[in-house]
Amino acid sequence: MGDTSGIKTADLVMKNGRIYTVDRNKSWSEAVAVTDKMIVYVGDSDGVESYVGPDTQVIDLKGKMVMPGFIDSHMHISAVTAEGDGVALANLPTLEAYLEAIRTYVTKCPNQDVIDGGGWGNEPFPPIGPRKEDLDTVVPDRPASLMSGDGHSVWVNSKAIEMAGVTKDTPNPPGGVIERDPDTGEPSGTFRENAMDLIYNVLPPFPVDRLKRGIHSYMKTAASEGITTVHDALLLMPDAEGTLLGYGNLRNNIEAFDQLTANDELTLRVRGTILTDPTKGAGQVAALKAQCAIHKHPHFQLTGAKVFIDGVVEGSTAYLVEPYRHMPDFRSESLWETDIANETFQEIDAENLQIHVHAIGDAAVKVSLDALEYAREKNGTLQTRHLITHLHVVDYADIPRFADLGVIGVPQTFWHLKGEYYDEISLPYLGKERADAQYPMKSFLDAGVMLAAASDYPVTVPSPPLVGIMLGITRCEPGSSNPDDVLNPKEKMTLEEMIESFTINGAIANFVEDITGSIEVGKMADMVILEKNLFDIPETEIADTKVLMTLFEGTPVFTDPSFQGIEK
Ligand SMILES: [Zn+2]
Repeated sequence: MGDTSGIKTADLVMKNGRIYTVDRNKSWSEAVAVTDKMIVYVGDSDGVESYVGPDTQVIDLKGKMVMPGFIDSHMHISAVTAEGDGVALANLPTLEAYLEAIRTYVTKCPNQDVIDGGGWGNEPFPPIGPRKEDLDTVVPDRPASLMSGDGHSVWVNSKAIEMAGVTKDTPNPPGGVIERDPDTGEPSGTFRENAMDLIYNVLPPFPVDRLKRGIHSYMKTAASEGITTVHDALLLMPDAEGTLLGYGNLRNNIEAFDQLTANDELTLRVRGTILTDPTKGAGQVAALKAQCAIHKHPHFQLTGAKVFIDGVVEGSTAYLVEPYRHMPDFRSESLWETDIANETFQEIDAENLQIHVHAIGDAAVKVSLDALEYAREKNGTLQTRHLITHLHVVDYADIPRFADLGVIGVPQTFWHLKGEYYDEISLPYLGKERADAQYPMKSFLDAGVMLAAASDYPVTVPSPPLVGIMLGITRCEPGSSNPDDVLNPKEKMTLEEMIESFTINGAIANFVEDITGSIEVGKMADMVILEKNLFDIPETEIADTKVLMTLFEGTPVFTDPSFQGIEK
């Protein structure tokens, strides 16, 4: 052992592991030392001994795999309230099951002014969506508003429609649909996209305390899944009003994060983007910039703007180049007028703020790329890293444009499989050719586009990154070995590529690559210890691999009861 004077003993040492660092060379190590939240040593187990002092906690990894903490680059931590604290409809199969869950909730919360929550799917319903009459049978006396699992539609009862003052004479707002009874023309109970504002602009927003409870509950889940950084792509200006695409009930979410950071309660790192209003255009950029400038806590920062260009396929609101299969004259539309999108993107970029774009349809992807090209032309070069998320239906000819613009793709690999959605939505709505070309991934990589994977939680519940990693590789319903069940097989990713997209690439997408995303000296000690080495097991077992411990900035935020790693 050499001269160890001058080495400060570490707070934590982990040794005898298989540490996948995700550094530039994808190198493996055996040991790590952590002092003051930071990684101070990465190397072999002998070398780490000089960091062990009387107060050092030592974890003998006994050959376990360690990797960087996962980064979920597009999700909605503060929308989780609807799932965790309201009626939870996710994963229930039928209208009857929904009504039963709502009935139970109402009995449990007799004094709640508004019955809210959500997670319902479009699958059990005809294209018109769920009906107010059904909801009236379980909530007759007060407003009820239930968000769809995809976040693009709300199901309301008669009381909520009455409060909103919506009648058969109310026109559809631009970019929104009030579903109507085909016989009477009366609103039938489902409001889509911008039409959701008619409801949420009159119902009270979620109280800050409820949002904080939801965030706390998510952080627990996240820690157990190995997640140490997330991007909340749905923050609202505190005084937001107007066209909020139905998210007005989240108006207090920045305040919730401010209160949590003031008390240092965040046990993961949050980066976020603020929802923009398609009717306000560049006029809102100054306020955006001001909000981003005042949020600089290491655990909560705002990187720029969230822009919805379109909706979703299942709501027939994704903006397509060719018409929908089930509506042969209909392609939907862009939520942003082209000129306004161009000018707004240019101004946001000129302020060095990030644009995080939601684009599901191939035409929406084109609008996004066109606006970024416009911004580049006017600004000389793009000033910062912009993101396009979802990438559901993409014209493959557009993929090189991502590389050319340096746009990072943010796909949700949790959706990269067939199953019910493929049979009941993709095939009838898109037709076989487009359905089978859904969710390109490898094609982006081959074109030199960086991909940062994400869950879109709570659209996807639950959403452990290990499941996202597996599905990015298999593109197949777990348990099936039928090659016909694989969705768009040429887009399969490798394990290495999927790990990068949930770690270092996510760090780059969120401007935190200097502090996390890989296990390297000088970075924060965000790490996860796994039960098995992902490189040693069949790919179909990745999702079942246990997270044994998650460390956020050197502190264990989750320890599996079976893990007895710490020696002293
Ligand atoms: Zn989302």
